Amino acid sequence: MISWRKGATVRVANHEGRLVIVTADGAIDVERASGGRFGPAPMSAFDDWAAFRAWAETQSGTAAALDPSRLGPPVPSPRQIFAVGLNYVRHAAESGLPLPERPLVFTKFASALTGPFGEVHLPSASVDWEVELVVVVGREGRHVAAADAWGYVAGLTAGQDFSDREVQSAGSPPQFSLGKSFPGFAPIGPYLVSVDEFADPDDLRVTTTVDSEVKQDSRSSDLVFSVPYLVSYLSSIVTLLPGDLIFTGTPEGVGLGQTPPVYLRDGQVVQTTIETIGSMRHVMRASR
Ligand code: ZN
Repeated sequence: MISWRKGATVRVANHEGRLVIVTADGAIDVERASGGRFGPAPMSAFDDWAAFRAWAETQSGTAAALDPSRLGPPVPSPRQIFAVGLNYVRHAAESGLPLPERPLVFTKFASALTGPFGEVHLPSASVDWEVELVVVVGREGRHVAAADAWGYVAGLTAGQDFSDREVQSAGSPPQFSLGKSFPGFAPIGPYLVSVDEFADPDDLRVTTTVDSEVKQDSRSSDLVFSVPYLVSYLSSIVTLLPGDLIFTGTPEGVGLGQTPPVYLRDGQVVQTTIETIGSMRHVMRASR
């Protein structure tokens, strides 16, 4: 069993392109506080996550004000992004599809990543919302046993798997990745939160509101394939790399599941919240 040393928790953010630790008082700039040992790029946290995490949890120094509007994605350039379809029991039911026998995996291309606050451009009138718990890989893994899987996870963040349903379902069989990879279709944040901050990382409330109306409100304990199962399954085929992201699937309540389907419109505000991690807020902007 591999697990991180238990200690103070670590919340990490990308503040104006620099790696910071978030405390109750604000943001601590990692490069400056570590005298250049770590940082400044947000991805440098994953060069040696165990060492970074051990150092970060001891930091309680002077924090600067944190401006939420200047937060970027906490993991801005992962080498691999995995996403899982039909991974909540009630979402599969609303989609009218049987539960998959093994994880249904596609990718969201990295150019779709964006920060936790801002505008998202709508390329069409068929863009849907999907709140997702996002796993951030902390160490290289291949053939990881499910019992050891949380030890390979740096932490969790919130994500939206914005999806253009027309593009997603075009073709036979449909290929999901492009319809989920328009610029801005993969916001993550506001923070990467280390695993031990969670009372139970396998049971987190996940919600989406659109213009303050609750659309999705579920718990990650409804996952068909749990986080440990996904880490184990993916690593039985590919090598997981530090900083990789796994979008773990969305619960029921997407616009496609309504009769007739309801999609996002110009000016609407999408708020994405995951228990303990926090909330993201995006304003939708139509094409011109
Ligand atoms: Zn999804």
